[in-house]
Amino acid sequence: MLLQKIEESKNIIISSHINPDGDAIGSGLGLYLALTKKYPDKSIRFILEDKVPYNYSFLKGTEKIEKFDELKDEPKADLFIVVDSAVFKRIGKVADLRKDAFLVNIDHHISNDNYGDLNIVKNISSASEVVYGVIKDLGIEIDALAGESLYTGIVTDSGNFQYDSTSMDTFRIAGELLALGIDRDNIINEVYRSRTLGFIRTLGIALSEMKIDNEKKLVSFLLTKDFMTKNNIQKDETEGIVEKLLEYKDCEVAVFLKEEGNGKIKGSLRSKRDIDVNEVAKAFDGGGHRKAAGFTTTLTEEEIIKIIKEKI
Ligand code: 5GP
Ligand code: MN
Repeated sequence: MLLQKIEESKNIIISSHINPDGDAIGSGLGLYLALTKKYPDKSIRFILEDKVPYNYSFLKGTEKIEKFDELKDEPKADLFIVVDSAVFKRIGKVADLRKDAFLVNIDHHISNDNYGDLNIVKNISSASEVVYGVIKDLGIEIDALAGESLYTGIVTDSGNFQYDSTSMDTFRIAGELLALGIDRDNIINEVYRSRTLGFIRTLGIALSEMKIDNEKKLVSFLLTKDFMTKNNIQKDETEGIVEKLLEYKDCEVAVFLKEEGNGKIKGSLRSKRDIDVNEVAKAFDGGGHRKAAGFTTTLTEEEIIKIIKEKI
């Protein structure tokens, strides 16, 4: 079905969610690189609302990713493929480009609402792992360039092979990608050991000022717009802080809140064991996975924490 749709389409647009993470970039870029190599005569574009975060821009091919606000024309689509997004509206303004194009939804979130005309949704480590299978099923060979991108998505969304979504297949696929000759050490250095001073300082504040609710085993921290402005911290410089909050031994759920400056707060939830934070995120119209979920809300910090405590 997908193969036929690709072959009969002249114009293909790939997109992924706002505030893209390693898996959004990795899965979208992996698919983009595989399709452009196999179909050089088609117009294939990878368009995101936001720019590529600084710690993923080392990936070869990211220079081809287009930012919605900087488009020089109105891209056409016969086929519109969304990766790593549980709901269609999470791709932001790029959604306007779909028009009447056939919609393909490639994802791995349990909260996915099957918004596509074709849905390829599997409850596995990452959208990148799903895309790996999709490219193979299309009969396209994965080269080191696409492999580097998919490997980065798998590493980041599995928490460097820590989360329980990491299966034997995840390791097998990661192994097959390594066999292509990709530079695993460089990927880890670029993604995890190239933090800006802004990130390090924010992490310091978060760890020293986090609030602890001993009864609920909840750890929370609000990053204010004011702190971000004063310290020149960009919105792509805070990924990974919530996982650090979860490291506290008496923490079962960690929540990292970030003021966006438009009256909204972006929330990131992580759970260590049994508490399902996908359910908690739903209270704010968000979603994700059982152990990692997020949301955006106009509620205040106090209101958010009150609701979370009621839910856990
Ligand atoms: P993060 O907290 O790192 O932004 O996201 C954790 C997980 O929840 C990711 O899989 C992400 O895609 C998902 N997620 C984050 N924010 C939202 C949201 O507002 N809506 C939905 N449906 N999923 C989200
Ligand atoms: Mn993902």
